[in-house]
Amino acid sequence: MNLTKEIDQIEVIRRVGECADELGLEAYVVGGFVRDLLLKRPSKDLDFVCVGSGISLAQKVADSFDHHVPLSVFKNFGTAMIKLEDWELEFVGARKESYRHDSRKPIVEDGTLQEDQDRRDFTINAMAISINSASYGDLVDPFDGVRDLKRKIIKTPLDPDTTFSDDPLRMLRAVRFATQLGFDIEPGTFDGLIRNAERLQIISGERIIDELNKIILAEKPSYGFKLLFVSKLLHQFFPEMVELQGVDSVGDKSHKDNFYHTLQVLDNICESTDDLWLRWAAIMHDIAKPATKRFNAKVGWTFHGHEDKGARMTPKIFRKLKLPMDERMKYVQKLVRLHLRPIALVNDKVTDSAVRRLVYEAGDDVDDLMKLCRADVTSKNSNKVKRFLANFDKVEQKIQEVEEKDHVRNFQPPVSGEEIMEIFGLSPSKVVGELKEEIKEAILEGQIGNNKEQAIELMYELAKAKGISKKEN
Ligand code: ATP
Ligand code: MG
Repeated sequence: MNLTKEIDQIEVIRRVGECADELGLEAYVVGGFVRDLLLKRPSKDLDFVCVGSGISLAQKVADSFDHHVPLSVFKNFGTAMIKLEDWELEFVGARKESYRHDSRKPIVEDGTLQEDQDRRDFTINAMAISINSASYGDLVDPFDGVRDLKRKIIKTPLDPDTTFSDDPLRMLRAVRFATQLGFDIEPGTFDGLIRNAERLQIISGERIIDELNKIILAEKPSYGFKLLFVSKLLHQFFPEMVELQGVDSVGDKSHKDNFYHTLQVLDNICESTDDLWLRWAAIMHDIAKPATKRFNAKVGWTFHGHEDKGARMTPKIFRKLKLPMDERMKYVQKLVRLHLRPIALVNDKVTDSAVRRLVYEAGDDVDDLMKLCRADVTSKNSNKVKRFLANFDKVEQKIQEVEEKDHVRNFQPPVSGEEIMEIFGLSPSKVVGELKEEIKEAILEGQIGNNKEQAIELMYELAKAKGISKKEN
């Protein structure tokens, strides 16, 4: 197969080919770019491999421009990178890798193109396109990656046990590509995943979470999680999620399977957001259900307090998974803690004060919270779903009304502590905090509006009741 037409739209490829010709090096575009080109998926990463020094090819390419182009050289790895407009060009010399069983560190040596292709992870990622003028555009596809692209199959080029034990991260990559591309994992390769799942233990948390986040950002992440679960890869790094799986019954009372429920919530939320952290909130929202599960003969299964317990588990899980411990964790934690609140609003009569309190606590994340709640409606009974969603419409309408009236979304106390101290000649003390808190409560309860005038008026009343009087000037 010759792909001249396809690659000729990208000018820089021909330039790299000419530089390789001048240096007398065999050079190729390789890996993900070739796969994505054949799949017509846009891609801005170009990986070049040459038989010889990748660094000297990169240098030559950088020098071939009239203007300065930034070149980064990583001598230790024998690689170099050029950033060109929105392209990222990577250069590396063809290499072969051999692994000893007692060490994860490969012995890397210069190799041929074929040897370089042998060490790649999947047949669809092992294709190369020649860019030297004599064979420009020729596809070099030793493992019939083209056929696997057509069959929509993820398959290792070598025996899966070899490929996976050499670098166990490839098992997660198999699931990640299957999920991103909507491909199947070839049965022999999948058996390899099952056999080698425990080897994932030797991989760093950072590499694992990178792949997991890519799975979560796919269109339908539930597919990836099912593969992770069945292969038992998930058990290696996220046992809390595995715990969600299963149904218990007492008599005729059983609860739903919280693993599959969570996956459904995750897929649902993907329809309304591409945000990784809102997707993480969906994954985490019921994480404490196993820990809070009780059976009560009268009401059946309960999970009381799973939202609070789940919020407490969030930082621990984030830390363990090497997820960020900053405001992104706090955001997920908040959504987990609040995820039942809009439902409570629906069940009770929706009062202004309950809505105001929710908006106060959720702040700017109230819209995301509502998305999560909508995604959480997974009943098979379509009437029930309709009723729930209609109720959420009402809650949202109420949120908007209350917000327009009272602006408690990013609540700033209408009278500050400094002002209270100044007016009454108080030094920083408990009573200042009490006054502030009582004013806030009155606003949230709707006893007064969220404005300075009414707040000051109430402040004098409250102070009087406490026996505090205005400072004499
Ligand atoms: P994407 O950029 O969308 O993540 P990609 O296939 O380009 O997909 P990269 O991680 O950028 O993935 O790697 C580029 C190429 O390097 C791959 O296509 C594959 O040929 C090879 N590769 C990357 N990681 C591994 C690995 N762990 N084992 C074997 N080959 C790998
Ligand atoms: Mg890439």
